[in-house]
Amino acid sequence: MTTLDAVTASLMIAAASRRLAASADDLSRLDAVSGDGDHGVNMAAAFAAAESSVAEAVPATPGDAFLLAGHALGEAGGGSAGVLFGAFFASVGTRLGGEASPSVADVVDALEIGARDVAQLGRSARGDKTMLDALGPAIDAARESCERGAGLAAVVSAAAEAAATGAASTVDMPARAGRARYAEGGGVGTRDPGAESVALMFGAWSDVLANGARS
Ligand code: ADP
Ligand code: MG
Repeated sequence: MTTLDAVTASLMIAAASRRLAASADDLSRLDAVSGDGDHGVNMAAAFAAAESSVAEAVPATPGDAFLLAGHALGEAGGGSAGVLFGAFFASVGTRLGGEASPSVADVVDALEIGARDVAQLGRSARGDKTMLDALGPAIDAARESCERGAGLAAVVSAAAEAAATGAASTVDMPARAGRARYAEGGGVGTRDPGAESVALMFGAWSDVLANGARS
């Protein structure tokens, strides 16, 4: 697959919603260590809202699917992460625009702009033990893979692998953003829940692109 289409984008959003809902308890347990223990509930609620919004509207372009999801994520009351994921999706959707089948390079550019906007909104950077520590490496890997001429499924698979490694790397980081920065030791010894959610989302996307509607 060399381009993204509206149906695939909608399937990606639905698959992320299912994956995050299935991991909600684990995500909340991670958040309970140095946050307030609601991250899994927040993600499940925000992505369920995004999934229904997209299912109801039947968007004509991938950009519209991401924009709809972004607005729903931001408005679902899903804590800071809901707002930040909402900004990510909305920025990706805006960058993809009205194009019916954006190229792989367009998708990578859109993801990069999404991550940049999360950093700007969160006043955070890679290394702060946040979702950016999964998002940043995912986008670097996607860019590299795209520059080597890989198709969308391979690009997103590379991103998913890097996101998982990035999320795992947060275990050693003291938090410098979000609630965890107030926790004793800054949450060292535990993964950042938002980074874990990013890794789960890219993993779900990668499965959709590899397996179609079966995942
Ligand atoms: P809340 O902190 O409002 O309870 P969640 O528990 O749902 O929200 O989400 C916490 C996650 O959000 C963190 O693990 C982190 O990845 C992400 N996060 C929080 N604040 C920021 C920020 N300023 N920049 C980037 N990510 C952040
Ligand atoms: Mg929380």
